[in-house]
Amino acid sequence: MTLKRELCYIGLGSNLGDSTDTLGSAIEAIKTIQSIEQFQVSSYYQSKPHGPQDQPDYINAVASFIINLAPEALLDSLQAVENSHGRVRSGEQWTARTLDLDILLYGDHEIDTERLKVPHPWMKQREFVLYPLYEIAPDLSLPDGSLLKEYLTQVSADTLKRLKASR
Ligand code: ATP
Ligand code: CA
Ligand code: CA
Ligand code: CA
Repeated sequence: MTLKRELCYIGLGSNLGDSTDTLGSAIEAIKTIQSIEQFQVSSYYQSKPHGPQDQPDYINAVASFIINLAPEALLDSLQAVENSHGRVRSGEQWTARTLDLDILLYGDHEIDTERLKVPHPWMKQREFVLYPLYEIAPDLSLPDGSLLKEYLTQVSADTLKRLKASR
């Protein structure tokens, strides 16, 4: 299969350590991933944890870029960035972490393998994904043809706070 340049969106999150610093440093590292161009990032947002509630609030953002790299190779690179920012894999889901990088969209591709599910299976339910995504891509459509806009009003954003611009 020949690779093409694809427009990708990723979600960034942190709720351990200095999350704002960590996201800034992670962004600089992501910009150096092979073939990445036209990198953009949303503001930072503060959100309440989903899943276990006995953990700190999260800082989240969404970034987009053009890439010419297979999705699994992008995941490898993102996991390397997580690891270099102190990510420890406890085996338990949705627990506190220094850095979480999820692939939200990889062009219009639908991927369903053991390691990688794209579009990210929970993105339509997550205010901390939908709102920052809307900020950088208000007219975005998903691979199934639905509009990002449609999902915004279906989630509660009562506890989501937009912080100052990240740049
Ligand atoms: P959630 O997927 O609900 O956001 P999480 O981010 O806490 O949960 P992790 O522990 O960070 O989950 O990741 C577990 C595994 O999910 C990763 O090792 C990776 O192989 C897999 N995975 C599947 N789809 C994706 C995706 N779109 N982006 C990142 N990882 C993914
Ligand atoms: Ca995640
Ligand atoms: Ca993850
Ligand atoms: Ca499209």
